[in-house]
Formats: sequence, C-alpha cells, structure tokens
Amino acid sequence: ENLLNINNLYASIDDTEVLKGLNLSINSGEIHAIMGKNGCGKSTFAKVIAGHPSYNITQGDILFYNQNINKMSPVDRALKGIFLAFQYPVEISGVSNADFLRLAYNEKQKITNKPPLDPLSFLELVNDKIKAIDMNSSFLSRNVNEGFSGGEKKKNEILQMSLLNTKLAILDETDSGLDIDALKTISANINALASNDNAIIIITHYNRLLEYIIPDYVHIMHEGKIIHTGGANLAKQLEHYGYDSII
Ligand code: ADP
Ligand code: MG
Ligand code: MG
Repeated sequence: ENLLNINNLYASIDDTEVLKGLNLSINSGEIHAIMGKNGCGKSTFAKVIAGHPSYNITQGDILFYNQNINKMSPVDRALKGIFLAFQYPVEISGVSNADFLRLAYNEKQKITNKPPLDPLSFLELVNDKIKAIDMNSSFLSRNVNEGFSGGEKKKNEILQMSLLNTKLAILDETDSGLDIDALKTISANINALASNDNAIIIITHYNRLLEYIIPDYVHIMHEGKIIHTGGANLAKQLEHYGYDSII
C-alpha cells in the first residue's frame, strides 16, 4: 500500500530555500535510509513531513495514504501515525513519562473511537511494551527525558513509537551519540517494530546503523533533493568511496 508520496517538494525556513524539488515514494512494509552530507537538508525534510510550523512549503505535495497533508497540523499528522524521533529529544520538566505517554496514547484512542485508558490499565499496557524493549520501568516515574542518557532518550522514543501505533517513523540520526551496545539494542527494537503495516525512514550520516537495520532503499540527498537511489549496498559503497563519488 502506498504510504507516503512526495512530489517535487520545495520548502523554506526564514526565506532560505532548503528543500528543492524532493521526490520520494514509500510503501507500507519498507525501510528507507536517507543519507547525505551535513547541511543537505535531512533534518529539514523530517521536520517538514512532521509539520513543523517554522517551515513553509512553497511548491509540491506531501501525500500520506493518498491524502494531501501539506496544510495539516503536526498534531493531526501525529494522530494519523506520523512519528518523528528527534535528533535531540527534548526534556520536559514536571511531567512524568507515564503521564506524558498516557496523554498521547489516549489522544490516539479518541480519534479511533476507543475509550481512554485509566492510569492503572495504562501502566499494565506500558509495562508490557517496556519489557519488550528491555527498558527499566523506573523510567516511567521520571520526568520526560530529564537526566536520561543519550541511549535512554532514544529508547524512550522507541517506546513512544510502539505505543502510538506508528505508521511512518522518521528516525533522525537515532545513532548519534550511542555506544555500540545501545546501538545494537535500539536497532533490535526498531527491527521488532517494523511490520508490513508501517514504514521507517532512517536518516543517518554513517553506515553504522544500517549494518543492524537493513534498508530496502538507500537515498542520497544533496542540496535539498534526492539525487540517487540504490539498495543496502549503496551505504557500504559510500563508506568506502565517500559522497563525492556519487554527487
Ligand atoms: P542536515 O540535517 O542534512 O544536516 P538541515 O536540514 O539541518 O541539514 O539544514 C539544511 C540547511 O538549512 C543548512 O544549510 C542550514 O544552514 C539551513 N538552515 C537550517 N535552519 C535554518 C534557519 N533557521 N534559517 C536559515 N537556514 C537554516
Ligand atoms: Mg546535521
Ligand atoms: Mg540533521
């Protein structure tokens, strides 16, 4: 099933054009990697898909399940199943992780006409998810991301992703700042969440993560658009020969 279709997308921030004619098509069940040099527009792409209000789409379309979402609010996009894991996850003081997750989960319930979960039923559900990703349940009572290590913040995002029934996950440099053990655990969690019913976009600068999560397609981004697409081998080729061998 066609999940995401991006046609000739142009987007700018503060009058600087960053995305310049980007095309991308993604079906359910696929894992895509987007690679490219620093500053080529990878994070901008992620934020524009998630509906970040600082960015203006000046041309082109974003279709999600064949519906144009150019003007849809970030919240509605999230409720439809678009999940963006940030390069730098934010800390939220004064809000416990459990409350934060339950609020998000119950918003999701609302739009699917299901009843909200009370705190205890929610804890039961979330404890199962937490065990599945090998996370300590003490994280639930702590404030969102406050004092979490890099690896713990990333795990927390994977937990959010698993609770929200994500259809399109965009992982922006999820591998940055992780040691090899954290990288392996998080990759295993991401692989476990991948299904025929969702798709994953992995944005990364390096081949490292792609040795654990094998993408169906690797796209090279340059100056705000995708200039080359290949299979998993393309990431290895890049590691050997560098971006300049392609652009
Ligand atoms: P990447 O994630 O690939 O490293 P980004 O999407 O973060 O790239 O940035 C793409 C380009 O957009 C960069 O050249 C950056 O300087 C520019 N950019 C990002 N934010 C702003 C801004 N607020 N105003 C002007 N230019 C910006
Ligand atoms: Mg960057
Ligand atoms: Mg970036």
